[in-house]
Amino acid sequence: MVINKNLDFDINQYEDIIEYAYREGELGVCQWNISKHKLYVSEKITGHNLGDIHSLTEFVNAIAYHKDKDLAVQDVYDYINNVTSFYNSTFRVQAKDGKIRWVLFSGKMFEDEHTKELVLKALIFDVSGLKLRGGHDTLTNLVNDRFFRRKLISSIKDAKSLNRKGALLYIEIDNYKNIINNYGFEFGDKLIKEFADIINPVTIKNHELAKMPGKTFVILIDSFDDIREVKEVCDKITDICKNNFYIDQIKIDISVSIGVSIFPDDSSNPDELIKLCDFALGQSRLRGGGICTLFNKEISKTYYRQLLIESKLSDAINNQEFCLYYQPQVDVEKNKIIGLEALIRWTNGEIGSISPAEFIPIAEKRGFIIEIGNWVLEESLKTLKKWQDKGYDLESISVNISSIELNKNNFNENLINLCKKYNIPHSKVKIEITERTLMISSDGSKRKIDKLIEEGFKIALDDFGTGYSNLKSMLDFFVHTLKIDKSLIDNIETDKSQAVIKAIIALSNYFDCEIIAEGVETKDQLDILTRLGCKRIQGYYFSRPLPESEVEKLLEKN
Ligand code: C2E
Ligand code: CA
Ligand code: CA
Repeated sequence: MVINKNLDFDINQYEDIIEYAYREGELGVCQWNISKHKLYVSEKITGHNLGDIHSLTEFVNAIAYHKDKDLAVQDVYDYINNVTSFYNSTFRVQAKDGKIRWVLFSGKMFEDEHTKELVLKALIFDVSGLKLRGGHDTLTNLVNDRFFRRKLISSIKDAKSLNRKGALLYIEIDNYKNIINNYGFEFGDKLIKEFADIINPVTIKNHELAKMPGKTFVILIDSFDDIREVKEVCDKITDICKNNFYIDQIKIDISVSIGVSIFPDDSSNPDELIKLCDFALGQSRLRGGGICTLFNKEISKTYYRQLLIESKLSDAINNQEFCLYYQPQVDVEKNKIIGLEALIRWTNGEIGSISPAEFIPIAEKRGFIIEIGNWVLEESLKTLKKWQDKGYDLESISVNISSIELNKNNFNENLINLCKKYNIPHSKVKIEITERTLMISSDGSKRKIDKLIEEGFKIALDDFGTGYSNLKSMLDFFVHTLKIDKSLIDNIETDKSQAVIKAIIALSNYFDCEIIAEGVETKDQLDILTRLGCKRIQGYYFSRPLPESEVEKLLEKN
């Protein structure tokens, strides 16, 4: 045996530590002589004495918290039947005082050299406070995602064999991001913990509340007879959230979104069930949050359409299914097209034509947006070059950029290289970023925007005035253009819209930036805008987005 003489520890010290842990009940031992049907377990750690029990399976069944009994017993069976090659089992035990502890049993089976008896020896650890990701989330002390997945698999199996139904609920605090933006991560952790404590009582005997990574909670309803029982749980949770939350004496208003999928109806595959549930949650969020969405037939249509779109998106560039349309931006005073916004169009042989409002978010989620964005940039600069060569006089071409593109490392270099390649002055390129994008952008992305401005590119804040608006984004950057959102133009005859538009115009004067009104469809809207002092207009009233050849006809007359 090689002994490392340089080790500066004394093995006896370790024995002390082990002895201490053993004495204090943080470590226990277990020996199960399977051949002789004899069991020894140190009492302190589990807080339960053996009584008449002679096998580990019986013992585990007796001490495990009622929600974990099945899994804990299964772990022992799986090991002694060679399904698993290690005996590692994490579960909860409820001490006599009602407190719940997380324990880890870890051991191995031996055959005694002399007696040939089979013996399972295991160490038992109290892992409640440790950052071991055995079974629980250390912040909330709830079941964690790994442990939860095992429970879900076992529930689905039971539901199928017992011919019953269960439900999966995904729960998320809608404004969590805003809260941590305002108060920091530590505060966010406190909120998560408080939230767990408040919704835990909603879960009853056959429910399991678990904490997924990030800010998502999940409830597993093992079985239910009537879907109303599931809806009741959702209602209780949304109701609880209407109460005031106080964290560090600060009053916090929260709302939650919930998504529900049912097994085995929606699926009996745990991963798919989770995906469907997450999708339903996403639908709740899309509808503004604060609601619960059941994965039903209607949502399933959207889900499968998204899957179809996803599957077709990857080849769309290679198959040359995209093209760009351009929508004129008109200066009403000069009666002249001053710029064009490039808008992508997609026609797929099987699906038909698909609106960017539908496929761009999917492309963003699945990462296709980078390739698509590159294509859009190159295509629009190539076209601008043609128009430049033909002598058309345009202030700029506008290109929409999503936050994911901006987050990409080489976005700026790429743009600069493309401008070089097509000989386009930077000032002719306007990058349209939505206010929302800007708000969720990392500091790195914000620095990139700064650099773009330094390089002479123009920045337009898209969808301005839609509720995300905050002045900070304007103070942070030298924004060149504010695009007044279509929703304000749609309601332009109301006092409220006019007041907001007036305020935006005042802002633009103060910050010395230009404004463009988007989605102008009627003469009445145009008249009101002109009266309020907005001279630049984009909308169907002047022109819909047009293919290159048709825009050229307009530019010819310009
Ligand atoms: P957006 O950037 O706000 O673009 C304006 C949208 O309003 C366009 O829809 C345009 O066709 C439409 N629009 C313009 N004037 C009017 C009007 O008077 N009435 C009505 N009803 N609609 C009008 P489109 O082309 O369907 O694009 C939808 C969204 O998709 C865009 O909203 C933009 O966010 C995104 N998008 C489009 N092309 C691209 C692209 O190349 N890259 C990225 N990242 N996003 C894009
Ligand atoms: Ca835009
Ligand atoms: Ca817009």
